[in-house]
Amino acid sequence: MSVQAKKAFQYRPDHLIQDFREHIRAFGEPHTWRYHTHEPPAPEGAEVLLANFVIPREFVRSKGLAPCPICSPKSPQYAKGHLIWSAVGGTLHAVGHCCGHKHFEDGSFGRGIAAAIELEQRRADETFLMDNWEYPRELLALSRDLTPWARSYDQVVKNLKGGLSPMVCKAIYRAAADGAFLSVEDQVQGLGRKMVSIKTPFGSRPVQGGLVLRGGKRAVSCEGRIKAASLIFEQLDWVSYEDAFWWASSQPSADLKLLARHIKEAVAVFHDAHADFLALQAFLSEENLELVSAWSAVAHAGNPLRLHPHAREDLAIWRGAVRVRRILIPRNIWGPPFALPSLAPCAG
Ligand SMILES: [Zn+2]
Repeated sequence: MSVQAKKAFQYRPDHLIQDFREHIRAFGEPHTWRYHTHEPPAPEGAEVLLANFVIPREFVRSKGLAPCPICSPKSPQYAKGHLIWSAVGGTLHAVGHCCGHKHFEDGSFGRGIAAAIELEQRRADETFLMDNWEYPRELLALSRDLTPWARSYDQVVKNLKGGLSPMVCKAIYRAAADGAFLSVEDQVQGLGRKMVSIKTPFGSRPVQGGLVLRGGKRAVSCEGRIKAASLIFEQLDWVSYEDAFWWASSQPSADLKLLARHIKEAVAVFHDAHADFLALQAFLSEENLELVSAWSAVAHAGNPLRLHPHAREDLAIWRGAVRVRRILIPRNIWGPPFALPSLAPCAG
């Protein structure tokens, strides 16, 4: 532990944060960092450079805890701390978590921690936005490209739900949500002479794509979901990295955070739409329609449903001898799946 006087920093040395982080990562010893001052800082004017750092577990195990210049210069005692710059002395100190609240008499420590946390969040949001700056434009374009497909999807699903009845939709959806087989009820003799019904799996394969039948009548349309998710991006007019950079540098932190969240949420919505795209194709496949018909012949023996495709674009739903619905399936339902953008890993 060095007692020699360190260089005094006249201005807040944010440029040293990275060096400190690397030192902690490599050695796990805040107090041996070359800019660290081991004497207690002046009791006012704390500026927090790094809100939270934690000594990696393996160093705590091998070297123990770190000594804190405020409360324990001689007996190491903390693993989680803050890096502060004393505006009065121009010195840098790594102190233990909670230690500064009593030491600094002007409240600068608490305010400094809050400000540093906000700044870190802003930097993380900025990094995320700049790493993914083309997203708003791409998601908006994708939303426009997908609108005709989403409209077809909504129309087909609405017709399927109408033709199959809510009860049947629920049974198929539940089976699909479990990733499993449709089931039929069998009457068997229980204890005593009483007959009880048990569910047994039907068929030799699980039902496909039944997830598109979720949500009943009030489910939000696919077209509505992708429009709502990308609407906010219409307000941005970034055409270059520089535009995005300028925007990110000049907006309040709350707006950066909001935009980052909207991008992540929109990507999730498009991933769901992509899954729906594949699920509907799977549901409409000939072998799956046969499975559902065969199941209904057993499960609803008195009045079974039959899903009969005349062609890929023309499906009839029969209940007994009555055709309850004819569904024209637009060609774009059978198109190749759209490409999904993938987000850069989130910083911070
Ligand atoms: Zn302390």
